Amino acid sequence: MSDTIFGKIIAGEIPTPKIYEDEHCICINDIAPQAPTHVLIIPKKPIATLADADQTDQALLGHLMLAAGNVARQLGVENAFRLIVNNGADAGQTVFHLHLHLLAGKAFEEGMV
Ligand code: AMP
Repeated sequence: MSDTIFGKIIAGEIPTPKIYEDEHCICINDIAPQAPTHVLIIPKKPIATLADADQTDQALLGHLMLAAGNVARQLGVENAFRLIVNNGADAGQTVFHLHLHLLAGKAFEEGMV
C-alpha cells in the first residue's frame, strides 16, 4: 500500500467513512470540499500519478471511470458532475496516490475545459 494518506485510509489505519467500496477502489468525501458534492475515487492499487499508470492498468482505469458514474448515480448527481485528475505537483496534485475528484452541486463555468 502507498505511504500516503490514501494508502493509510485504504489499509484501515485512518478510519474514514466510505461512500462506496469494491475490490479495486474506494470512494470517500473530500476533507476540504470544493463543491457541495466532492468525492474522491481512489484505486486500491497505489499508482502515484496518472502518468505512472501503464498498459497493465487499463482495466483498472476503466473501472474507476465506471465507479465514478455509479457513485454519481448513487448520490443523485449523474446529470451534472465534473471529474478531475490533478497530475503532478505543478498541476495541483498534493497526494501522490492516483485519485479522481468528482465534483457536483454547483454551476460550472465554461472555459478552462
Ligand atoms: P490532489 O490535490 O488532487 O492531490 O487532491 C488531494 C485531495 O485529498 C484534496 O482535495 C484534499 O482535500 C483531499 N484529502 C486530503 N486528506 C484527506 C483525507 N484524510 N480525507 C479525505 N480527503 C482528503
